[in-house]
Amino acid sequence: MVECTDRDALDEVEIRQLLLDHVGHRCCWGSVPARQWNITSTEDFFVYVGSLETFIEERDIVTKKEPYESGEIDGRDKGPVSGVWELDVRSEFPLLFIPKKEVMVKIPHSEVIEKCSDCERHGVKPCPFCNAGQAYGFYKAKQMTRCGTCLGRGLLAHQDGSDTVCGMCNGKGMLPCVACGSRGYVTCNTCTGYGFLLAKSMARVQWKTLTARKVSATRGAASVPEEVFHRAKGVQLCNIQAYQCTPAFFADSYPLNQFSSEVIASRLPVPPSARVISERHIISVVPVTRVTMAHLKQSFSFYIVGYSRDVFIRDYPSKFCWGLCCCFEWMGK
Ligand SMILES: [Zn+2]
Ligand SMILES: [Zn+2]
Ligand SMILES: [Zn+2]
Repeated sequence: MVECTDRDALDEVEIRQLLLDHVGHRCCWGSVPARQWNITSTEDFFVYVGSLETFIEERDIVTKKEPYESGEIDGRDKGPVSGVWELDVRSEFPLLFIPKKEVMVKIPHSEVIEKCSDCERHGVKPCPFCNAGQAYGFYKAKQMTRCGTCLGRGLLAHQDGSDTVCGMCNGKGMLPCVACGSRGYVTCNTCTGYGFLLAKSMARVQWKTLTARKVSATRGAASVPEEVFHRAKGVQLCNIQAYQCTPAFFADSYPLNQFSSEVIASRLPVPPSARVISERHIISVVPVTRVTMAHLKQSFSFYIVGYSRDVFIRDYPSKFCWGLCCCFEWMGK
C-alpha cells in the first residue's frame, strides 16, 4: 500500500458538511437525513486508476471536385504527385495528447480535369419536371401544362355570369414548366453548366488520442461508476511517456504491476491508416471514504472520492421527486 498519499482523515463535522453541500445543490433532496442521521461507520480505502493514451496521426485522401471553366491547372505535368505520408505537415503539428485536431492539405500536382458525369459534359440536363427520365438529346421543348386556375379555359367564370381573362395564364389556358420555362432542359448543378470538373486530391490529416482506462477492483465501492474515479483528483504513481509503453514496475507492489499490465493490455486498436506518435501511461491512486448513516432501521451509504472530495451518492433516502423536479422539500418540515 502506498503510504505517502494519505489524505487527512475526515472528521464527522467535515463529512456532514460535504454531504450537506452536495444535497444542497439538488433542490429536491431533503436535508434532514444529512443534518440529523447518525454517522455509524466510515471506512477509508484506495482505488487505483490507470490510463493508456495512444496519440496517433491518421492520413487519408479525400477527392474534391468543383466546376471547371478554363485556365491553367496544377496537374501531373507540373511535377510528381506525392504520397499522402510524404507531405510535410510539421507546421500544423499539435500538442501531444490533445483529444483531436484535423487539417486538410492540398496534394500538389494532383489536379485533373474530368468530364461531368451528371450531364455527360453537355452542361445541361433534361428537365426533371417536364422531361423526367429522358436522356440527353431526347427531351422535348415547349411542353405546357394545363392551367390549374382556369382549368384550361383561359377564362374565369363569375357568379353574375360574366367571364374575365385568367390572370395566371393570361388567357392561354396553358402554363410553361416552372422548372425550365419549357425549354425542356435545365443547367447541370454539378458543373454549373461548364460540362467539366476540376478534381483535386486533399490529404485529410487527423491527430487524436485514443484512451484506454481502468479502475482497480473496488472493494466496497462497486456501485460507484468508474467515471467518478477517473474524474477524481488523485496522486500519480507513474507517468511514463514512450513510443510504445510497457507495464510500469513497482518494486514493492505485485498488485500494482499486475494492474499496470492490465491497463497496457487494454490498448485501443490503431486504425491501419494511422501511425502511432507517442504513448503515455499513468497510474494514480485515489483515496475513498465510504460513510454509512442510519436512523432507526433505515440506513444509506455514500462515498467521498479523491483529494477534491467529490461526493457520490446513489440512494439518498430523502428525494421528493424523480426527475420531475418541483421542490416540495417544505412538506417534510
Ligand atoms: Zn454537369
Ligand atoms: Zn421543364
Ligand atoms: Zn388560366
